Amino acid sequence: MSLYGHYDSQNIFALILRGEAPSYKVYEDADVLAFLDVFPQSLGHILVIPKECQARNILDVEPAVLGTMMSAVQQLTRVVLDELKPDGVQIVQFNGAAAGQTVYHIHIHIIPRWDGEGLGVHAKDRADPAELETLQARLVERIHSNRLASPMLERC
Ligand code: AMP
Repeated sequence: MSLYGHYDSQNIFALILRGEAPSYKVYEDADVLAFLDVFPQSLGHILVIPKECQARNILDVEPAVLGTMMSAVQQLTRVVLDELKPDGVQIVQFNGAAAGQTVYHIHIHIIPRWDGEGLGVHAKDRADPAELETLQARLVERIHSNRLASPMLERC
């Protein structure tokens, strides 16, 4: 059931996009917004979402939007590698509750991984806000130095 349905404009990512809920933004351009997952499964867990789009999942999204998202994911993965030096990075996208999806605005997870370190439970443990702010500042600074366009530092 959750695989199909109408887009709910009150979902948390829609609220973040409209500035009606806070987020730890690390990158924004005309097409995408990237922010820290507040229930991170690892240090540097980032979510990338399309802005002008009412797609719930991969079934709904325009291929061109998917391409734009993946381009941002690739650039942000490089930023994460440069700044946090993980041993690997998982790129993940869930569709439907049975697959683990909990927010119904399409998004892609960037999850850094380190050798010998397990993965946190999905969407469970809220991170310390001070640690998120520190991490946000590090990634934004790295984005500046890597010359990605229009990083945003403010929590909105
Ligand atoms: P999914 O389960 O694939 O739909 O992913 C949704 C993700 O959003 C989960 O990893 C949650 O931890 C994360 N999440 C939920 N609420 C927020 C929020 N307000 N800010 C940032 N991340 C969130």
